[in-house]
Amino acid sequence: MSNLSTDVAIIGGGLAGATAAAMLGRAGHDAMLIDPHMAQRPEFRVEKLDESQLALLRLTGLADDVLPQACVDGQVWVVRYGRLVDRKPSGRAGIMYHDLVNAVRQQIPANVRHAATKVTGIAGDARPRITLATGDEIEAKLVIMATGLNPGLRDFLEIKREVLSPCHSISIGFDMKPEDGHPFTFPALTVFPEKPDQSMAYLTVFPVQGGMRANLFVYWGMEDTRLRKFRHQPKEALLELIPGLAQFTGPFTIEGHVGIRPIDLVRMNAPERPGIVLVGDAYSTSCPAAGTGANKVLTDVQRLCSTYVPTWLGKETIEAADVADYYADPVKLQCEADSLQKALWLHRVSTGTSMGLRTWRGARFVAQSMLGRMRGLKHLDVAGKASTDVLREA
Ligand SMILES: Cc1cc2nc3c(=O)[nH]c(=O)nc-3n(C[C@H](O)[C@H](O)[C@H](O)COP(=O)(O)OP(=O)(O)OC[C@H]3O[C@@H](n4cnc5c(N)ncnc54)[C@H](O)[C@@H]3O)c2cc1C
Repeated sequence: MSNLSTDVAIIGGGLAGATAAAMLGRAGHDAMLIDPHMAQRPEFRVEKLDESQLALLRLTGLADDVLPQACVDGQVWVVRYGRLVDRKPSGRAGIMYHDLVNAVRQQIPANVRHAATKVTGIAGDARPRITLATGDEIEAKLVIMATGLNPGLRDFLEIKREVLSPCHSISIGFDMKPEDGHPFTFPALTVFPEKPDQSMAYLTVFPVQGGMRANLFVYWGMEDTRLRKFRHQPKEALLELIPGLAQFTGPFTIEGHVGIRPIDLVRMNAPERPGIVLVGDAYSTSCPAAGTGANKVLTDVQRLCSTYVPTWLGKETIEAADVADYYADPVKLQCEADSLQKALWLHRVSTGTSMGLRTWRGARFVAQSMLGRMRGLKHLDVAGKASTDVLREA
């Protein structure tokens, strides 16, 4: 057993922790990353970065080294009410989570030590101390807790979580392959629900290295029989949910493991502790359907590492009030608020049956159809029967 010390101890090497380690290491700070695994293993998390997330990644200075691992879709075909309404330009980058995190980890300079073990305890003090599974102790001026959904260490600090929406959504992730061996005709595809009783946000199919990946976001309970079917007969379950899907995809197969992850929307209550700061999912979760998790992670880390840490490390100790200033950072607060609002709105607009919401969905259909038509999707009958049918449903 030995006692080590560092200026910054980063617990957790997912997207948040790895980005913090790369940024702080590149800035020449004395930092240590603690995560049980030397390389990120496959985990079902964010698998596609949109343009806003790519812009945030650029702010961290890591984009140029990470993006070569990703597949940019170029264009996305949009299906609403069972009809292809648009083929819109898109610059989203598909990348499996372990490839993303490992690409970020490769940018962590050698001056950042990696302890390949688990943190088993943490004591909040003027100078926090953490205990490793090896029995070693680390004293740090600042501890960045980037431990994702793992609740263990928060309990040591008596930080309580507030559940804003239990089982808010369920994400289902799988690989999709065209049956005939040719590529799909679409570069990427998004299918929105036809009826509120599908209780789905959307299906997105997009390229990643080595094939096409699909993410389906639904608002079902964990006991829903449709989920059981997804576990055992995913293709049949998908076609039951979206009966017209094959007219856009052609015959397809679903291969490999089907990931199914429910998400509670939670945030931490009064997490200010001297010298300890929570980032990413450890601070608050997001709805994967809203696609804002990576925005939150990258905003948290970028604001922390570029603005707060350099000032904090010049001080004798980092007080709870300093940490509170970070949690009240206007850019971070706005990002948190946008993420929550988007999650709640998407749920309402996907499943709501009020006249107002049905009208909103119909209007969205017409607007996107017109855009699609302007972009040259000529076969759409926007002014005619298709939109009349949809508006009648609305
Ligand atoms: C199914 C799913 C789909 C999603 N889809 C999207 C999407 O489409 N778009 C989007 O923007 N966001 C999405 N998200 C959200 C996004 O993936 C997360 O916000 C992001 O991955 C969180 O990163 P993180 O580093 O905070 O946590 P994590 O990636 O969970 O990393 C936590 C790390 O902490 C380590 N750790 C935990 N405890 C300890 C310990 N005691 N000691 C040492 N290490 C520890 C773990 O090993 C892990 O490496 C999705 C999330 C899920 C679950």
